[in-house]
Amino acid sequence: MKLFVASFLRSIRHDDSDPDKQPSYEGKDPRLQDVPCCATCHSRPVAKLMCCSRCKTAWYCSKECQLADYESSHKSLCVSIARTLKRVEQLTVPLRSTIIDVFLEPQNFFVSQVGLFGQFYQAHEYLTARRYLVDLYVQAAHIAETKSVWERALSHALELMRLDYRDVVGTRSVIPFILLNLNRDDDAFDFIRYWTKIDLDDRSKLFDLMNRHFVSQEGDWIYPRNQNCRFMDVFEECANVTDQKAPLPFLVALLIIKCRIVATYDTTCESMDLAFGTPNGQRIQEVQSAVKELILDEALMNIQSQRQQVQRLLIVIHRRNAIILPAFLNPTPLLTKKWQNEPNEALLVLLHGAGCFVCVPGAKPLLEERFGKEPFYDLG
Ligand SMILES: [Zn+2]
Ligand SMILES: [Zn+2]
Repeated sequence: MKLFVASFLRSIRHDDSDPDKQPSYEGKDPRLQDVPCCATCHSRPVAKLMCCSRCKTAWYCSKECQLADYESSHKSLCVSIARTLKRVEQLTVPLRSTIIDVFLEPQNFFVSQVGLFGQFYQAHEYLTARRYLVDLYVQAAHIAETKSVWERALSHALELMRLDYRDVVGTRSVIPFILLNLNRDDDAFDFIRYWTKIDLDDRSKLFDLMNRHFVSQEGDWIYPRNQNCRFMDVFEECANVTDQKAPLPFLVALLIIKCRIVATYDTTCESMDLAFGTPNGQRIQEVQSAVKELILDEALMNIQSQRQQVQRLLIVIHRRNAIILPAFLNPTPLLTKKWQNEPNEALLVLLHGAGCFVCVPGAKPLLEERFGKEPFYDLG
């Protein structure tokens, strides 16, 4: 947990992290990079960086930089990743030949029980170890801010869901945040929509779901996909998301998706106003609305509705959990409280979602309007 908090703090404390001072915004998290930089000196040399051969989540420009980072911070995460990877590998072996019935041949779970792992006690240790690996990769990804590390976290998380649709180790609520860090908003929306809509008490739906898992291969995206679905109305498409049972992380992920849409609209309008304000721009005033239409598909976006959805999501989230939104503005009390048992839901959402949220222009001010700059909240 300590590690997780450290990587989280690094991820939200960037020198250039004030999104409201960024020159432009395209609905994407500006922190995500395709090409890594040196973890110590942050340079991006033309000659290739060396990747840490043990964990493959950190890059360096020189031996000196690697050594400096290893001793000061990388060591513990690096060792944990390597150890957990090995553990997962070891636990895979017996599952390839497991006896579940004395009258049956031993079974390869990865062939015969895809989707059903959670039902077998023999698979629990494996699922738990792999779930821990997801957390480790998420922490490493917060530090490296590199696509390939987020993709490692995602591939293990999706594989856990594919192997165990019942989600006994709690991966489902983390996946939307990993997708948002990868700027895959449509996939995040589709994923949430799928899991809030499905009624597992309906036998035919359950049969469809099982079939999706049975016929899939490792690495497959097994959920329905709709281009531009992020613009859809949350409260129509994911009606059940406002139920008490729906996971709070889903609501917060949806809020981030909607805030990104609104921010894209607002910053685009702002820069167009600036452009049309110049002498050259004034000469082409007559095409202003045509250009705006080209850049912003207003029919698809329906900006009024997006703004309303943001407001409604804020209300629903705060009603469900009065800690989480104030904690986005003032995380310290939540981060420093000692939890007796399992870490609490608000803390998990904060660690996974706040980084994305605060990077959206206008998102923090939106909360500040409601709660003030450094709101107090009762941790009980
Ligand atoms: Zn360096
Ligand atoms: Zn390493």
